[in-house]
Amino acid sequence: SKEKGRNRYSYFDPKLQQQIEEKVELSKELRKAIDKEELLLYYQPQIFTKNSINDIVGVEALIRWNHPEKGIISPNLFINVAEETGLIVPLGKWVLKESVKQLKIWETDATKKNWRISVNISQKQFERDNFFSLINTLIKKNNIEANKLRLEFTENLLIKNTKETLEKIQKLFNLGVTLSIDDFGTGYSSLAYLKQLPIHELKIDQSFIRDILIDSNDYSIVETILSIGRKFNLEVIAEGVETNEHHQMLVSMGCSYFQGYLFGKPSIAETF
Ligand code: C2E
Ligand code: CA
Ligand code: CA
Ligand code: CA
Repeated sequence: SKEKGRNRYSYFDPKLQQQIEEKVELSKELRKAIDKEELLLYYQPQIFTKNSINDIVGVEALIRWNHPEKGIISPNLFINVAEETGLIVPLGKWVLKESVKQLKIWETDATKKNWRISVNISQKQFERDNFFSLINTLIKKNNIEANKLRLEFTENLLIKNTKETLEKIQKLFNLGVTLSIDDFGTGYSSLAYLKQLPIHELKIDQSFIRDILIDSNDYSIVETILSIGRKFNLEVIAEGVETNEHHQMLVSMGCSYFQGYLFGKPSIAETF
């Protein structure tokens, strides 16, 4: 009964109970959001700088939830719940499908036909047995160039380094999909996977970029990541680039790829 249910929770403090109830509510709504088509993708440009010329080479797909009452909700408020409840699997599939659809649209646009899309992949989603076949089918069915799809993984997913992980990543690489390590340097630090995995890109987390002009530790970390990139022949992209000063500093350090408010906030595809 309801009474009994209430008693069972009485060990918890009311704040915690409220948090749990909000989470349950959120996950219920999120479950329906996919079918109700309330999810949308924003895209943020990724820039290549050479000889002071900035070109868009791709975008990162960033999910939003257009809630009927609450308006646009940030992924920071629902990705965790989606991961805990397993909803990240259908949600992540939706993101991949939508991204491929967008690549198809851009194929017909002379200025955008070479753009790639970077998609965030959560660990739970990646660990599913059918993850490779999902990607494979999407690419084949829609006849897109595999190297236009870039998958962003976190270090925590990679350090597991199981046979399954390695095989799956090798298969994705063979397919032509490119791989990026998101938030590089913020996870459990092990560089061992760099020599084992076919990776294309390191993404410097914005927490290292923010104070790069004033904090010598951050400067050194970024310098180190750029040097790792050079030695392993990887592209390195700096995230959270907000000002010209940040951009210029990073260029002078040898960084060529950028993402941040300086070049554009995440927004719907139509604004590009
Ligand atoms: P992330 O992958 O590290 O994405 C970068 C975040 O930094 C984005 O936040 C982006 O809007 C923000 N950002 C970009 N440039 C700047 C800048 O110059 N300054 C500042 N202050 N912020 C900047 P967003 O869109 O709120 O996404 C937050 C996180 O949610 C993402 O972090 C990612 O971990 C997760 N996420 C977003 N979309 C997806 C998705 O489709 N699937 C999964 N699994 N996770 C997603
Ligand atoms: Ca990302
Ligand atoms: Ca990131
Ligand atoms: Ca992040």
